[in-house]
Amino acid sequence: MEYRNQLIAFSLEIIKSLAAVLVNVNSPLEMMELKVPPLKKGQVLVEVFYSSICQSQINEIRGRKGVDNFLPHTLGHEGSGKVLDIGADVKKVKPGDSVVMTWIKGSGHDIPSVKYKSDGKIINSGAISTFLTHAVISENRLVKISEIPMKVSSLLGCAIPTGAGIVYNDLKAVKGRSISIWGAGGIGLSSLIAAKKIGLNPIIAIDINESKLSMAKELGADYTLLYKNDLSRDIHEITNSIGCDYAIECAGKIKTIETAFNSINKNSGKLVIAGNPKKGKKFSIDPFDLISGKQIFGTWGGSTSPDRDILNYANLYKGGKFPMDKLITHVEPFNSINDAISIVESGKSARVVLQIKETI
Ligand SMILES: [Zn+2]
Repeated sequence: MEYRNQLIAFSLEIIKSLAAVLVNVNSPLEMMELKVPPLKKGQVLVEVFYSSICQSQINEIRGRKGVDNFLPHTLGHEGSGKVLDIGADVKKVKPGDSVVMTWIKGSGHDIPSVKYKSDGKIINSGAISTFLTHAVISENRLVKISEIPMKVSSLLGCAIPTGAGIVYNDLKAVKGRSISIWGAGGIGLSSLIAAKKIGLNPIIAIDINESKLSMAKELGADYTLLYKNDLSRDIHEITNSIGCDYAIECAGKIKTIETAFNSINKNSGKLVIAGNPKKGKKFSIDPFDLISGKQIFGTWGGSTSPDRDILNYANLYKGGKFPMDKLITHVEPFNSINDAISIVESGKSARVVLQIKETI
């Protein structure tokens, strides 16, 4: 066993990973070759096939999460790939397995950080990174899956579990209730797919972009509204002056949080905040609305249990009941990652997926 570990340590020392690294906040990511460190107990080496880009990475790149003490560091927290090797005591996966990489913690070892090296300098990584060709990932951020195209399964690491998890786990939404979804990006459309599957009605999607509203319509939204001030009135009209039973805010804007809160049922409406406004931003609500019965809360990855929920969504997809592939509006080559980031920032995409492995 010891001999085997020595062999692995030796073989890993010569594995290189091409990574898109954040060196300075608000600057393009820099492609660099990293030396992959030997696997520690509980870590897994994954060959990354696809990675999705979400708003969370944009917030990191733009420095919206506060001071970044980990520069330079790798990025990405949603992807798919194949296991190349495992560290000691890893039980969940084995070499050759297809896996989803997710930032949401599941079962298994939790190994919080990785240090790669490039030209003698340390490049930091968290428990998961997906903007690189070969990634050392903590066991608890992996879920083994099969029979799903890698491109599609890359969405199972963040967008789908967060968006659908809000509907299933946070709201425990009930058939026939109404919902408004503010922001029809990857998370919002994932919520929409789940809302449709459960049979919520009406489903109202709101965005600033017509093309995303068309996608929402295609995925089953009963009403699509172009964002404008005082949309609360329109939503009350649609819901016979009652307001929506549920609202999900995915735009990360103070104004939409406040409008969404005004638009829910005054005695029982629930608003979930999924979007991330810039750190330090504050919103304002009337406390009496809480006294009369409205509820407002945030979500941490849709309260997802990855080992249970990701497999469930994968099975629904395989059965043709969860059209998550429709979320992919762009597939970009890895070496165009900075262009891909610009597409995400343009607000015109649902999910932009990077093809990281060259030949698939
Ligand atoms: Zn994400």
